[in-house]
Amino acid sequence: MRRAALAVLILAFAFLPALSSHAQQAPSQVSASAPAPPSSAPVSVPPASEKAMRYYRTGNVLWVIGTLWGLLVPTLLLFTGISARMRDAARRAGRNWFFTIAIYGILFTLVMTVLSLPLDYYEGFVRPHAYGLSDQTVAKWWSDEIKGVIVGCIGIALFLWIPYLLLRKSPRRWWLYSGLAAFPLLVLLLFITPIWIEPLFNKFGPMHDKALESQILALADRAGIEGGRVYEVNKSVDTKTVNAYVTGFGGSKRIVLWDTTLAKMSPPEVLYVMGHEMGHYVLGHTWQLIFLGTAVALFGAWVIHLTAGELIARYRDRFGFTELADVASLPLMGLLFGVVSLVISPAALAFGRHVEHEADRFGLEITRDNHDCATAFVKLQQENLSNPRPGLLYKLWRADHPPLGERIDFCNGYRPWETGQPLRYGDKIRK
Ligand SMILES: [Zn+2]
Repeated sequence: MRRAALAVLILAFAFLPALSSHAQQAPSQVSASAPAPPSSAPVSVPPASEKAMRYYRTGNVLWVIGTLWGLLVPTLLLFTGISARMRDAARRAGRNWFFTIAIYGILFTLVMTVLSLPLDYYEGFVRPHAYGLSDQTVAKWWSDEIKGVIVGCIGIALFLWIPYLLLRKSPRRWWLYSGLAAFPLLVLLLFITPIWIEPLFNKFGPMHDKALESQILALADRAGIEGGRVYEVNKSVDTKTVNAYVTGFGGSKRIVLWDTTLAKMSPPEVLYVMGHEMGHYVLGHTWQLIFLGTAVALFGAWVIHLTAGELIARYRDRFGFTELADVASLPLMGLLFGVVSLVISPAALAFGRHVEHEADRFGLEITRDNHDCATAFVKLQQENLSNPRPGLLYKLWRADHPPLGERIDFCNGYRPWETGQPLRYGDKIRK
């Protein structure tokens, strides 16, 4: 359920698909002179390898299992009365209203973590190793898992009281106020993520390759982004895949490049990837995704408001609570929000793909490097074991980026500057 409920946020902040590589490539060495002019020959989309298709098909099966499991676990917590017993224990330990909710929230987080542990371990550790996508040690996986649980417990203890207080104070309008409260909470979460949360898991710092850094900063300058906003992170301890992303908000907003990307892509390819990320940065995508997240929270809370009362009236004896304002209702909220997420995710993902397409366009307009755009995505496809032409159901429910085949085609074909046509983002790019 957590996975389904957080899908929208996850898609919001994982802007570029991961990819892995066994390719041995020297660390990027950039000469001071300008790179050779990019080739204008189109790059063809390679067919998916047999291994990639196996990864694709088993990934779909795993997604279905994970989604069903995410709905089944809160259902079991409700119908077995375990949630009501967790509330009783939280009441005995917490005594007052606030601590009862905080302790219940922590118990809930621990129970959900334990019940999803086998699947998380398989998906996060066993499977990437089996496909050669990771060198992570088992100790690092466990330490990240434990840190993640601690962060989750602190977060739920700090914020779970908000909807339950609103439910008590305003039983008719709580969903509206809770949905609106998501807005400042998302801003706060985005602001602290790169400062307090991500450094718990990895080391962030300035780029090591100073020659490439100066090229990236020159590109950033043309996009109107200040120099201190580009970071390198040591993701090689966790994965062989490559990635880059935009995170943070306001003063903490930044572009982060995984060290694996720097090791495996050529400097012009890295520059295109950074051009794409700069698109996210300057085109207001952070704001758009905060609005999207708030709309999803509002809609989810409204559906919960409309449907939960009837379910509680019907199953009150099994659930062991009689009103939504009882914190034992949390698995019911989670279950309903999980169903809502599943239903609206095709629309949310379509919006995400639109945002990614515009970032691809911005990356092309600022670099005008069609060839390295296309070869960067070919590397993504081959090293990431991606299917460049996935099926319709995958595209609707899973694809947070356009399929790589479409992205490569766009890299090849989009060149308005060659025919003197106006650029869509020409006003945001300095010459
Ligand atoms: Zn992106």
